[in-house]
Amino acid sequence: MAKIAFIGLGNMGAPMEVNLLKAGHKVCVFDLMPDMVKNLVSQGASTAASAKAAVAGKDFVISMLPAGQHVESVYLGNGDDSGDGSGDGSGDDSGDSNSGVLSVLDKNTVVIDSSTIDVATAQKVATKANEMGISMMDCPVSGGVAAASAGTLSFMCGGSEAVFDQVKVVLASMGKNIFHAGLHGAGQVAKMCNNMLLSIHMIGTAEALKLGVDNGLDPSVLSEIMLASSGRNWSLEVYNPYPGVMKESPASNDYRPGFMVNLMCKDLGLAMEAAQASNSATPLGALAQKLYLDHANEGHGEKDFSSILNSLV
Ligand code: NAD
Repeated sequence: MAKIAFIGLGNMGAPMEVNLLKAGHKVCVFDLMPDMVKNLVSQGASTAASAKAAVAGKDFVISMLPAGQHVESVYLGNGDDSGDGSGDGSGDDSGDSNSGVLSVLDKNTVVIDSSTIDVATAQKVATKANEMGISMMDCPVSGGVAAASAGTLSFMCGGSEAVFDQVKVVLASMGKNIFHAGLHGAGQVAKMCNNMLLSIHMIGTAEALKLGVDNGLDPSVLSEIMLASSGRNWSLEVYNPYPGVMKESPASNDYRPGFMVNLMCKDLGLAMEAAQASNSATPLGALAQKLYLDHANEGHGEKDFSSILNSLV
């Protein structure tokens, strides 16, 4: 069993870490917000006063952080990893100071970043790691909090074939579909394409359900019909956006996240930037981005992304 440091224990990181413990790995956790790790320590994790202290002597480091600037500041430096909860980890340096976690890692430690971030930052941090003789892979995930808890996430990995073979064993404790998408950054490309599509079918699903209800249908009956028809999709199948249709879904729990509107806006921003750079036509992606940004600006940024249904008035 492996010795692992896990950095970033939020909505996704915490249940992923619990599955590592269940699989018998020894895990040391660190989050800027001390409250995030209390529950995990009671389940068998150890903790450290800083990210640098957490990674000492580990076989793997796994991070699950909000965005590119957090990943860069943790690995390359100038992040506040003191563990006193006073910083937001969003260091604005170029990363050149190299005072981050990479600077203290053993050469045989393998780094797995599962955060959803921009391709350029993923490549920059991995290149720095490689220059220092450290193996790294971008391994963003799909499946949401339910799959993180159930250990059924999909991982999309970017990096060398040799490192992919090393990380597969650990990822298998947290997920059931593990894909090698290509070289550094390829996991993030796959993830941004997937999430653009997710935003589009979530909005479409919400629209269809609202239209049905406005025309006298019961949302549960309509959901059942569409699930057995050509409108079937993941949002309808496991994440119904209409309150009361699925007991455990964020929609039935005051749209508590789950996956925040703000994070979907971030992901759509990444997809639209990439589309512009590659000159790819993404008219529905652009519209989805506008609808989600409007929704966030109306004060729903911290709600689950399925709350987009409430913007359809
Ligand atoms: P979250 O905001 O719930 O958790 C992020 C955690 O990182 C927080 O606990 C925060 O305190 C911690 N953190 C921030 N900076 C830090 C630092 N410098 N050092 C240590 N800890 C730090 O976010 P989440 O929903 O868990 O998402 C994490 C990542 O996974 C994001 O990139 C998101 O886009 C992606 N993702 C989320 C979902 C989902 O359904 N929530 C699904 C797939 C992918």
